[in-house]
Parts: sequence; C-alpha cells; structure tokens
Amino acid sequence: MRKRLVVGNWKMNGGLAANAALLAALAGNWKQAPGREIAVCVPYPYLAQTQSALRGSEVSWGAQDVSEHASGAFTGEVSAPMLAEFGCRYVLAGHSERRQHYGDTDAGVGAKAVAAMRAGLIPVACVGETLAERDGGMTAAVVLRQLDAVLAALAPQPAAPWVLAYEPVWAIGTGRTAAPAEAQEVHATLRARLAAAGIKDVPLLYGGSVKAGNAAALFAMADIDGGLIGGASLDATEFLAIAAA
Ligand code: PEP
Repeated sequence: MRKRLVVGNWKMNGGLAANAALLAALAGNWKQAPGREIAVCVPYPYLAQTQSALRGSEVSWGAQDVSEHASGAFTGEVSAPMLAEFGCRYVLAGHSERRQHYGDTDAGVGAKAVAAMRAGLIPVACVGETLAERDGGMTAAVVLRQLDAVLAALAPQPAAPWVLAYEPVWAIGTGRTAAPAEAQEVHATLRARLAAAGIKDVPLLYGGSVKAGNAAALFAMADIDGGLIGGASLDATEFLAIAAA
C-alpha cells in the first residue's frame, strides 16, 4: 500500500525562536497512524535545531536540496552524507525554485536523487509545468520529460524508496491551486509512466497553494497520496490540519 505523506517546505524562512515554537507544536500534536507520515524540510542551518527538537517524536525532517557529489571542492554545496548525519529522512530534489533560479537541470535532479539514495535518504523529486507550458498544452510532455530524467538516473530500477511530487509552477506560492480533477489528471499520467516502468508504491504528492481548506478535496483523488506544502507549513495549526486531511 502507498504511504500517505505530507511534507512541509519551509523555503528560506524561519528563525531560531519561531522554529522552536513551530517544531514543538508539531512534535507535541502529531500522532502518526499506520501508513501516514509528516515531515518538514528546513533550511540547512536549522537542521541541528530540528534534529534536537524532533528526535523521539513522530515527525520526520529533511532538507530542501542536496549536492549530487558526496564530498570535495564544491564550495557552498551540502552533501547527502552530511544531511544523513543530521538525521534527515527526506530531501527535496528539483523543486521548481531551484530549477528556475539556480539552474537545476532534469539530469542534475536525477543525479541528486541518486546521491540522496546512496546516503540512505528518501528523495522527493519534484516535477511541474509553468503557466506558459500549461497554456501551450505541454503539461504532460513537460512532467514526463522531468520524470523520465529521474527514472533514467535511477535505472534499471530505483534501489531505495523515493517520492514524486507534482507541483505546477503557476500554483506555487500564488494562492492559485490546481482543481482536484486537474491535479488528478496529471497524477494519473505520472502514475501510468511509473507503472510502465514497473514501479509501484511511490507516493505521489501534490504541491501548490495547498491549505487546510482545499487539502481534503485534493487528497481524496485516486492518485494523490499527500502534499508538498510551502507557505502553509509555517503555521503548525494549518499544517497539522492539512496532514489530518
Ligand atoms: C512549495 O514550496 O513546494 C509549495 C508548494 O509552496 P506553496 O504551498 O506555498 O504554494
């Protein structure tokens, strides 16, 4: 059975005092049920704080990006083995903000997923189309191209668990969410490609302006197994309500 998963992406937000309150609220109020999990992906400098706040709780944590290299002369980069030392379970790979602003390529995202797996982390590979691509009828072609690059990197078969997140770029941080049926259509396309590659049990998350008010309708869709949550993950009450949905 596919796991139900809700992952928070704090993006470049946070501060020691605010984080402490948020993490304590999550640790104190989330009760994991079988097959259900939540996690937060925090900025690198807050990994130690997150590890000490969440250790022993039922909330997992991770980072928002990872180097494809394990070590060496890569100034400014952070490797998967380093993330593992801080207890990370998840790491995002290819979030659209990394693709848009920092030059992440399809092949590079695949390499990051491989590096994460080698260190025992679960990569959350992100795919999604821009508004221009959607308006141009390119949605399926774009997300399948991005997925195929990850599958090629993981070939012949993924060696460890991973997660796929569909995040339409036009819905991220804009307040504009894909309608449940719109999101489901893309998820079904992705699921079919995974099935054709012989891959089952990969949780498929939807991301893009998910809130407590729209989460239940999205998560009720057949191929949506949970969410990748940006802005709303900074509010414990809102994030826990999304997870409860
Ligand atoms: C994200 O950052 O992955 C995201 C989905 O952001 P938001 O929920 O704020 O749209």
